[in-house]
Amino acid sequence: MPTPLPVSDIPSLSVVVPCYNEQGVLPEFHQHLCAVMDRVGRPWEVVYVNDGSKDQTLVVMRDLEQQDNRVSSVNLSRNFGKEIALTAGLDHARGTQGVIVIDADLQDPPEVIETLVAEWSDDVDMVYARRRAREGESIPKRFTAWMFYRVMAKLGNRVVIPPDTGDFRLLSRRALDSLLQMRERHRFMKGLFAWIGYPSKAVFYDRAPRAAGVTSFNYWSLWNFALEGITSFSVLPLQLGTYLGFVISLLAVLYGGWIVLNTLLFGSHVPGYPSLMSVILFLGGVQLMTLGLIGEYIGRIFNETKNRPLYFVESYHVAGVPQAGVKP
Ligand code: UDP
Ligand code: MG
Repeated sequence: MPTPLPVSDIPSLSVVVPCYNEQGVLPEFHQHLCAVMDRVGRPWEVVYVNDGSKDQTLVVMRDLEQQDNRVSSVNLSRNFGKEIALTAGLDHARGTQGVIVIDADLQDPPEVIETLVAEWSDDVDMVYARRRAREGESIPKRFTAWMFYRVMAKLGNRVVIPPDTGDFRLLSRRALDSLLQMRERHRFMKGLFAWIGYPSKAVFYDRAPRAAGVTSFNYWSLWNFALEGITSFSVLPLQLGTYLGFVISLLAVLYGGWIVLNTLLFGSHVPGYPSLMSVILFLGGVQLMTLGLIGEYIGRIFNETKNRPLYFVESYHVAGVPQAGVKP
């Protein structure tokens, strides 16, 4: 953990930015951020998290540290994925009043931070940015995102995840401290943000296409993300297996009765191979699917029970503290 600072130097707001291969946009992002935070006019710091980037992101971060004494950084020991990188940043954020979570690729316009802060008051613990349009994203991606939020809304039992909302938001210190108490490995952040509760408020904005670089999310990772969301927040799929099995057994009993009746009345004239095969294959499929579902949950139990630390820090830098890049 970073060295404590004199009270006067502790920022009241921290901006946490996970970065993976963002060398292209980071300087531009930082410029935008500074302009906006100066207008906001509260003491602030930014915490850049280098999530094991394969490009020069770390070098760019070190440059920013040199130029600007409001830059803190956390350099993780390898790529841990956005959710964990974000958690590392939140762990190191010192903002006494609150934190802002934002992506580095300028898809979450830093200008919106002004609105987030403006809408924030003592009665509101979380102000989240909700996107109005998904420019530059293909129709299938929009559709799958839309589907995902609708499914989650049905499955989330009591935890309501606001639709079309990413991680871009402002959290009060109280909300952040609550969030950080949840140390599970499978960190579906949107779900965790919603799970902690507290009064929250939405602010609408237009999501721009990525400024540079490429998105690290493809359909496979989006699918895994959705699976993570569903299995971390609902056991309904497990129950689904039970109901599916129940309905199919019922149908099988009815079908069996019909076969017996048919044989009694008209005798056996067809060997019954096709129906036998289709029933066996169908049931086999259902069983495999249900087993797979159970496997998803068991895998997650397995990962949680190992109880490993969420991440390791290779080096970090605290804004305004001279010894840059110290190893803890
Ligand atoms: N990111 C990260 N680690 C990863 C992948 C992404 O820290 O393994 C960061 C990335 O640098 C960006 C944010 O998470 O700041 C969102 O990533 P991206 O733009 O690729 O996702 P999308 O906007 O497509 O959801
Ligand atoms: Mg992005």
